[in-house]
Amino acid sequence: MGKQRKMTGSGEKSLHLAGSGTRASGKQAPVSREMALEASLAHAVAERDQARQALQAAASERDRAHGALRDADRRKDEFLATLAHELRNPLAPIRSAVQIMRMAEGDEATMSAARAIIERQLKHLVRLIDDLVDVSRITRGKLELRKERVDLKSVVRIAVEVNRPLLESKQQHVTIDLPPEPLLVEADTTRLAQVFANLLNNGAKYSDAWASIGIRAVREGNDVVVTVSDQGIGIQADMLETIFDLFTQVERPQPSPHDGLGVGLTLVKRLVELHGGSVSAWSAGPGRGSSFRVRLGLLRAACAETRPLPSAGKVADGFLRARILVADDNYDAAQSLALMLGMDGHDVRTASDGLEALRVAEEFRPQLVLLDIGMPKLDGYEAARRLRELPWASSILLFALTGWGQEEDRERGRQAGFDRHLVKPVDPEALSQLLNQTLLNSQAQA
Ligand code: ADP
Repeated sequence: MGKQRKMTGSGEKSLHLAGSGTRASGKQAPVSREMALEASLAHAVAERDQARQALQAAASERDRAHGALRDADRRKDEFLATLAHELRNPLAPIRSAVQIMRMAEGDEATMSAARAIIERQLKHLVRLIDDLVDVSRITRGKLELRKERVDLKSVVRIAVEVNRPLLESKQQHVTIDLPPEPLLVEADTTRLAQVFANLLNNGAKYSDAWASIGIRAVREGNDVVVTVSDQGIGIQADMLETIFDLFTQVERPQPSPHDGLGVGLTLVKRLVELHGGSVSAWSAGPGRGSSFRVRLGLLRAACAETRPLPSAGKVADGFLRARILVADDNYDAAQSLALMLGMDGHDVRTASDGLEALRVAEEFRPQLVLLDIGMPKLDGYEAARRLRELPWASSILLFALTGWGQEEDRERGRQAGFDRHLVKPVDPEALSQLLNQTLLNSQAQA
């Protein structure tokens, strides 16, 4: 508008000048020159205004970028402080427990209490580090899902089991509400279980002892909507979207003792999105509980496929037993895993290198083999490949054990014939759950 007004003004002036120019000299030339000058002046003014506007826009964009950078920098500083704090927290009880064990040798009750402390704290540390590794992998686009057809109801049950120790320690109760029909989705079971486990974990963390947490799945057309709700400390309205941002934590008048790293919900969001779904948070406000809704597309196909386990073990106390071979050149790692699996009732043998694993397997005929990748004589990949060539072992379960869970390793593992890839240190409870679930699936299909 301003520009237009200016042009009209100079046009009127030119007309007037044109009249006087003609009267004075009787020639047209000076008047036209005058008009051309006016026009180019107007053009220059318009260009200057445009340039000024562009400059202003660039300045405000620069200010915005600076602001975002300052915010990111502040969040990084806060995150580093939180990280140091969160990593140091478990170390004090571990150190004390080690000291107690040194002093209480022979006193079995004290020793076992100290061991329990170390276990709990170690689990916490492993979880923090796993979350960090996962989030960095996801943000660098390095995480790929291993999708299969799976009943979402079994994924929800795994997530509840993963949280059982926390729920029990806080005497909290989970209400699970699932429809009777299967809810088939195409998903990476471990990663999707991680989504609901994180949401349940937050529900438990941010609620009082004795509280009740709900997880409910309902079909909505071709989608399934899973809602995890609690009656805990709630979330203020202006944080409902930003809590999914990396390292974001809600400032509270009294910080909770389990504040974590502000990574869990970022993982939830990214993992749900990698499954083609969406997640949103809702809360009536501080002190009034929260709920998180995850929406995923359903598969129409009739049933889930998993590799059937031949001659699955017998059922006892609701758990299935299997013959398991653990091969790892780290003696303590192999023994501790074997002891733990033995305590779950499985029949377990160990081997300390790839060649020994093949020898023991031939004689023991395990239904499941856990193979460390970095073993001497024959590495885990080659051992798996050779096992798969044996007729009796073509359909047994093969799990890889590695320190790194990079997608390249997983792909190599798949090509060598592994069914699953477990990152060390393996969480004994999660492994126990996974085994039971796999064995149950196998039995259901046998
Ligand atoms: P963390 O729990 O490790 O801090 P998350 O990414 O899981 O990180 O959550 C980010 C923030 O969102 C938390 O710090 C917490 O303030 C808030 N939050 C998440 N879940 C809940 C919940 N169920 N109730 C109240 N606040 C929650």
